Amino acid sequence: MARKGAAALFPAVLLVVWAAVGVSAEAPGEEDIIYSCAAVDRRIALTFDDGPHPTLTREIMGILEENGVTATFFLVGENAEWFPEIVREEAEAGFELGNHTRTHANLREADYPAICREIDEGERAVWENFEYRTRLLRPPGGCLSDDVIRAAKERDYTLVCWSVDTRDWAHTPTDVIVKNVLDNAEGGDILLFHDYISGDSPTPAALRILIPELKKRGFDFVTVSELIESSGKGR
Ligand SMILES: [Zn+2]
Repeated sequence: MARKGAAALFPAVLLVVWAAVGVSAEAPGEEDIIYSCAAVDRRIALTFDDGPHPTLTREIMGILEENGVTATFFLVGENAEWFPEIVREEAEAGFELGNHTRTHANLREADYPAICREIDEGERAVWENFEYRTRLLRPPGGCLSDDVIRAAKERDYTLVCWSVDTRDWAHTPTDVIVKNVLDNAEGGDILLFHDYISGDSPTPAALRILIPELKKRGFDFVTVSELIESSGKGR
C-alpha cells in the first residue's frame, strides 16, 4: 500500500526506524484506515477538505465539471451550516461528500465523548440539510488514536486519509504542486487538496493543469468510495 502521505502521522525518527528495519510498522488499528487502494488500473481520487467555502468551492466544482471528472469533498460541519446551498450544489452535481468533523477538531487530542460529538455533529450538519448520509470520515490533519478508530467503527464509518499531500493548504506554489502530483501519482492514490484555505489558493490553477495532464497519462478520476469498491475493500 502506498504510504507517501503518512509522514504527517509519524515523528521523523519513527520513519527512520521504519525504513531501516524494512518492515511495515503498523500503528494501532492501522489496518482500519484507508490511505490509498491497490488499483487494478490507473484510478485516482481527488479529495478536497475543509469546505464549503463561499467562493472557492464553486470555483473548484466548476473546474471539475468542465473537465468531466468527479471528486470527494470532506466537509467541516460548521462550514456546511454556514453555506448549506453550496453543500446542496455539491451533492446535486454528483460529488461524494465525507465527514471532516464539526469544528475541524484535532481528534487525537480529544477525549472519547468529544470525538463522538465531533463526528455526530459533523454528520448532522450535512444530514439535516438535505438527508445526505456519508460513511467516510477524514480526521483533521490525519490525527488518529485508538479512540478515533473505535468511534468511527461504532458508527460504521470508513476512516480515509491520503497518499499524496499537495500541501496546497500551505500556499505551496502552483508549479510545485503540479510537479509533486505528476511525479508521485499512481493508480489507487488519494490526493489531498483543500477547497477552504485563508488567503489566495493555488488549488484552482493547479487543477487546471493537473486534470488534463493526468487524463493524458491515462488516469481515471473516481470518488473515494468508488476507489475503495474497485479495489475490493468495499463493504
Ligand atoms: Zn482539514
